[in-house]
Amino acid sequence: MSQRVIIIGGGQAGAQAAISLRTGGFDGSIDLIARENWLPYQRPPLSKAVLQGDMEPERTEVRSQDFYTGKEISIHTGRTVTGIDRQQQLVHGETGETWAYDWLVLATGGRLRQLKIPGSDLAGVHYLRGLDESLAIGRELTEGRRVTVVGAGYIGLEVAASAVKLGCKVQVAETLPGVLSRGAVPQVARYIQKKHEEQGVQFRLGRMAVRFLGDKQLSGVELDDGTVLDSDLAVVGIGILPEQELAEQCGLEVNDGVVVDEFCRTSDPHILAAGDNTRHLNRFLGSRSRMESVQNAVSQGKIVAATILGQELPYDEPPWFWSDQYDVKLQMVGIPDDSDELVTRGDPESGSFAVFSIRDGVLTGVQCINDAKCYVMGKKLIGQRVSVSRQLLENPETDLKSLLS
Ligand code: ADP
Repeated sequence: MSQRVIIIGGGQAGAQAAISLRTGGFDGSIDLIARENWLPYQRPPLSKAVLQGDMEPERTEVRSQDFYTGKEISIHTGRTVTGIDRQQQLVHGETGETWAYDWLVLATGGRLRQLKIPGSDLAGVHYLRGLDESLAIGRELTEGRRVTVVGAGYIGLEVAASAVKLGCKVQVAETLPGVLSRGAVPQVARYIQKKHEEQGVQFRLGRMAVRFLGDKQLSGVELDDGTVLDSDLAVVGIGILPEQELAEQCGLEVNDGVVVDEFCRTSDPHILAAGDNTRHLNRFLGSRSRMESVQNAVSQGKIVAATILGQELPYDEPPWFWSDQYDVKLQMVGIPDDSDELVTRGDPESGSFAVFSIRDGVLTGVQCINDAKCYVMGKKLIGQRVSVSRQLLENPETDLKSLLS
């Protein structure tokens, strides 16, 4: 009998699993259940081109409806799964429907971390995760409006850059003393902060938002030192939590993410998981981690398909990530560790440079500002786990290609 795959979650990981199953020759049924009313879409433009009104929502689609129809992939949008029966191998939907599976894929992604402070329900307080939210915020980012961004992570800073571009007056409140605490090395974080400041963004670092002020409509954001930032709009970007409730409810192993091995297998042999919601093993990193990135979603989506197809494709890839803010393109590979030796190549003043991370004599990461060539070479070198020295890397005469084995 032909196999039935049910995928829960219409993000990049779920879509990729479906696509890779078909392109890999899977001939059973594929049903993807998605809570949102949109076909699976790419999130990166949501804080950039879509927010700025420069990209139609449909252009973010991972694939068109025609593609899915042609590949016999059934996408069920606007449906929420409420429970998994592992004994019967059934998935229950909110409106009483059930789906039987031979393989179940949990690609449920993440949900927004909420700022639990007074005034959170005022009009004008926003969070950004999905397409609907991006469109709603975009409509409010008009010339001259005062925008307070809470959280100077990737989402917060990309929203700040988009708001500046649209003519808004932007302030950013961040609890930590620096921006981009998740992953960026200090040289890169400082550079990006400076770029924002040059555009007029004001940072309130080391400060916590404690209250949204206003009567029905937001008028200000109060910080923990009593300062009030007059605001027409606030956008909170303080990270996400893994969407793991379904897994928890049905007794799968979870630990800040659904625990999976390097083949995306959960503790149930019929259930796999991929994307932001997984705490996974990547042989390249050597320890279990949770990653919020497009690369991770796509890579794990492919691994899920390979596992179902009976191929041995372990996760063994350096993580990579990018962010666009103003004319700055940040591209990074690897996860820097506090104890890494950091080597800067190029002059930050020139607007193009890279910072390499070396651990025990081996190249483990690189973060590039407007240096795509260095990023591409760096990625190859890191994948090969090459041994390098500070002297070689910082010398502009060194041809990075020559370090490849
Ligand atoms: P995202 O992907 O949403 O940008 P990150 O984890 O990259 O998430 O960044 C979130 C940022 O929000 C971190 O720098 C974190 O220190 C900051 N943050 C968390 N809670 C608060 C808060 N209550 N007020 C201000 N900043 C916060």
